[in-house]
Amino acid sequence: MSQLAIHQIPLLQDNYGYVLHDPVDHVTAMIDPAVAEPVLRDVAKRGWSLDYVLNTHHHYDHTGGNLELKRITGCKIVGPRHDSDRIPGMDLGVSDGDTVRIGSATGEVIAVDGHTHGHIAFWFRESKALFCGDTLFSLGCGRLFEGEPEEMWESLKRLRALPDETLVCCGHEYSQANARFALSLDPNNPDLLARAQEIDEKRAQGHATVPTTMEMERRTNPFLRADTENIALAVGMQGAPPAQVFAEIRHRKDVF
Ligand code: FE
Ligand code: ZN
Repeated sequence: MSQLAIHQIPLLQDNYGYVLHDPVDHVTAMIDPAVAEPVLRDVAKRGWSLDYVLNTHHHYDHTGGNLELKRITGCKIVGPRHDSDRIPGMDLGVSDGDTVRIGSATGEVIAVDGHTHGHIAFWFRESKALFCGDTLFSLGCGRLFEGEPEEMWESLKRLRALPDETLVCCGHEYSQANARFALSLDPNNPDLLARAQEIDEKRAQGHATVPTTMEMERRTNPFLRADTENIALAVGMQGAPPAQVFAEIRHRKDVF
């Protein structure tokens, strides 16, 4: 069992991909390569060679680099089994409860339907890192392109149950816009106020606000808090089932 080295790579406008490297067995994997060029450069700079691509879901801004990376490095592509026909170059499909190995590090596959059907997250327990694509963002969650609110709420509850110190390595830098919406619902939450200020300061300096931690998200992310009184009250739905509160705040974010 080993701790992975994790490097975040900004891709396209606001995507993040992640290079994972097992320093013991010298195995390297790339999570969600939107494009190939910056990934090849980063991996070469570190003296590594790419063995695997891991995709969380089929959207082009998470898979656009797959074929070129495979052609140039011969890497194997692992993705959601459900999406074998829409993930370019996929070699191996995985689903909920499966594990993936990067050298001596093990990642657990968690099904997180909602943003798309078949969306998965990879959780590396020993490395305390979750790669959740477009399911959970800092202070936000993905749009419901293919799933129902109930599915996304169940997915978010599964992620929310991971340990406090879990690094939430998500697919986009959306924190600043998410913070504005979160504050509109939860304006007196001291953790959220502090986090929003931290996000503004980091963005003003051109720094990433991701990864965040699960503890921080549980305290501040309105989409993980649809079953709290504060959030239900904010949308006038006290006593309603949490999945319905979640659906309402997801809708409000869509039109915010
Ligand atoms: Fe997406
Ligand atoms: Zn995306």
